[in-house]
Amino acid sequence: MTTRSLPDRGGYFGEFGGRFVPETLMAALDEFESVYRKVKRDRAFNAELDRILAEFVGRPTPLTETPRFAEACGRFRLFLKREDLNHTGAHKINNAIGQALIAKRMGKERIIAETGAGQHGVATATACALFGLQCVVYMGEVDMARQELNVFRMRLLGAEVVPVSSGSRTLKDAINEAIRDWVTNVRTTHYIIGSVLGPHPYPMVVRDFQSIIGAEALKQMRKRTGKLPDVAIACVGGGSNAIGLFYEMLKHESIRMIGVEAGGRGHKLGDHAARFSGGALGVLHGTRSVVLQDEFGQIAETHSISAGLDYPSIGPEHAHLQQTKRVEYYNCADDLALEAFRKLSELEGIIPALESSHALGWLLRNGAAIAEGSLVIANLSGRGDKDVPQIAAMEKPPQ
Ligand SMILES: *Cc1c(COP(=O)(O)O)cnc(C)c1O
Repeated sequence: MTTRSLPDRGGYFGEFGGRFVPETLMAALDEFESVYRKVKRDRAFNAELDRILAEFVGRPTPLTETPRFAEACGRFRLFLKREDLNHTGAHKINNAIGQALIAKRMGKERIIAETGAGQHGVATATACALFGLQCVVYMGEVDMARQELNVFRMRLLGAEVVPVSSGSRTLKDAINEAIRDWVTNVRTTHYIIGSVLGPHPYPMVVRDFQSIIGAEALKQMRKRTGKLPDVAIACVGGGSNAIGLFYEMLKHESIRMIGVEAGGRGHKLGDHAARFSGGALGVLHGTRSVVLQDEFGQIAETHSISAGLDYPSIGPEHAHLQQTKRVEYYNCADDLALEAFRKLSELEGIIPALESSHALGWLLRNGAAIAEGSLVIANLSGRGDKDVPQIAAMEKPPQ
């Protein structure tokens, strides 16, 4: 089976993926899958989605060449796919809009979501406001305190933000609460998952909605240079912006693909979110993948300077692409990401999200080994405005 035809009917990418959920959710997942397969071929649906992506989100996003930053990395040409210029500041809106449109098709008027850093919550609340859907976002209490501004944004957009006080009061606890809500309200409610995670068909649906990133980038690169890119690189949290960039490129075997995880502050469990160097096969969020866990199989705490890469599991398709060696995965430490954050700002006038800075950091450190004149596309998954208060606080030690 070729990579492009995955997942299989059971929702598996090789040995990863599937559906590990309570029985009560199986019918809802079946319905979601069958409606999705229908709308995928539906002209009116696609025309409406395209219109919203153009008029509301601001697509297509530009492909920007950044020669001054490239020179700091090596001797290749670097192009940034500017997902930071989407409405709400990142790629997450591509998926939130798509899933909200499907919810409308299914006649579901209530949307739930969970969020860690708040970015997916903001994108979902935005899509719900646009379509007049009720929106409930679960968020750990610790994350709510850390991401106050996003909590306020979601509430401005009309969403109800529900604090989660169980467990470590972070993302994984918010996921548990969201699933509990879905089990109870499944008839009226659609659960919008924000990355290529969760039970089948979510990893496929989210990937497809994000694959517009790579489709546009290929077209723009061809128009600009007449060529395919030689390298495509993106940061990997759950993996949606990365698979969004990679998916349409997988069939071109000449393109080298690189995913960059959060290397955090060290190699110890709990100090990073590098699933491929410390994780093991496990189930989280309804899908089987590579999961950071302790010796008893309990989900580990993670750390990253960027809240959006701070997730203990990785999308099952990435686990498969790593196992089959189609995509290379590395990690980038906090301080290197921070260096890239500053460099791109100073040299190009673009303040990147700390998440995206991990891909740029990898290029800064390893770019010298990329052949002269190569065409490299890096996905700039989001803008760094949301990170400015955090950076400012690091510069000004508390008095
Ligand atoms: C959420 C987020 C990520 C990580 O999520 P993926 O699903 O791995 O893309 C990366 N960059 C930004 C800007 C984000 O908001």
